Amino acid sequence: MQIIRRVSALRTAVAALKTGDKSIALVPTMGALHAGHLALVAAGKDRADHVVASIFVNPKQFGPNEDLDRYPRRETEDVAALEAAGCAIAWLPDATEMYPPCFVTSIGVGGATTILEGAARPGHFDGVATVVAKLFNQVRPDIALFGEKDYQQLAVVRRMAADLNFGIDIVGVPTVRDPDGLALSSRNVYLSAEQRRQALALPQALHDAAAALRRGASARTALAAASNAIVEGGFDSVDYVALHDAETLAPLETLSTPARLLAAARIGGTRLIDNLAVLPD
Ligand code: AMP
Repeated sequence: MQIIRRVSALRTAVAALKTGDKSIALVPTMGALHAGHLALVAAGKDRADHVVASIFVNPKQFGPNEDLDRYPRRETEDVAALEAAGCAIAWLPDATEMYPPCFVTSIGVGGATTILEGAARPGHFDGVATVVAKLFNQVRPDIALFGEKDYQQLAVVRRMAADLNFGIDIVGVPTVRDPDGLALSSRNVYLSAEQRRQALALPQALHDAAAALRRGASARTALAAASNAIVEGGFDSVDYVALHDAETLAPLETLSTPARLLAAARIGGTRLIDNLAVLPD
């Protein structure tokens, strides 16, 4: 596996990988890799000849009071994990390589970027779209893999790739969870043992809300119960628990189309997100 830190070297290395019409899969990450990230690499290996994985903690997608400075950074372990997973290239630009001092461009996707995560984290999706567009242009992959764990991000990237004619197939990969149901997240390392136990209230509340919706409960009732259960389970606050159309992300009052339950809640200083598919009968 090649470890590359400069765009110029990346272009040469990717061009060599593409020789003979070989296909490339891109897996963008912010590092502190876990089995969820490695599931994206595995899905990339299944679908393309070579996988390029990027690790870049993107300052543009963090708000002023968020965890950019304390976000876990574990480059040595991450590189070893990517190599063991069979990646061809680990793309590790630093912030100056990604955003030279003269950099001024921002990509705003519009649409569903102002609700849910976009409402709780203003500017977040502009930062995501800008860095993902740059990664797409740097690597020019055939496909790119994103986790359903960040369901709204997946939707925003799909929209951007289609709207801007990137010609890249965006593949969503199901959320990888610990055996007890908690979604794997690089931010789980912030949790104390007690908070880790309490964090289960989040997937449990989504699971229970999905069951209630399938039994015919209104979204209002099911979502209010889920929000209460998350707080009773030990979370300090709930940013949102919501039911949205699985494709357009339009808010839903009833389970009338394939839908997604999405939630964000805070425990201690940690903000966790999760989501679940809910299908009407
Ligand atoms: P991150 O490093 O948190 O920016 O995540 C990089 C990619 O991995 C994103 O596409 C995430 O949606 C995906 N990802 C993160 N956690 C999981 C998980 N538990 N299961 C599947 N994909 C995940």
